[in-house]
Amino acid sequence: MEEIKKSVKVNCTFCSKEIECPEDMLQKFTKHMCYDCFQNAGELAKGEDLGEVHIDIPMDRMNEFIPENLTNSLVAEAFPDIWSERKEELKEMSKRDLAEEMFGAGAYIAIQQMLATLKQMDKAEDEKSDR
Ligand SMILES: [Zn+2]
Repeated sequence: MEEIKKSVKVNCTFCSKEIECPEDMLQKFTKHMCYDCFQNAGELAKGEDLGEVHIDIPMDRMNEFIPENLTNSLVAEAFPDIWSERKEELKEMSKRDLAEEMFGAGAYIAIQQMLATLKQMDKAEDEKSDR
């Protein structure tokens, strides 16, 4: 039989709609946000640290949400470095060359990141089987 994660009913901290929260997340998060509120999170989250908020994202939305979110954090992390390193060179390029160069840099980082993740997963597997 498949193990079903126990979830409990909680109320959205922002609109008090009833949502579900996996029991093991209750200890980690003190606030909860429903998906509707999450979509308006920019407005609602002013001054809130979303790191402490459990967000109830429906499973079928995860596939859209994760790539978008990862892309945003990758850009925020990697772009300032690329820009400060290559500013002068990039300024000289035509728009088309620039677009191509940046698309390439993005793809490169994404693939690098993916390989690093795969390696980490491999390592985690190895450590598990050592025990
Ligand atoms: Zn809500």
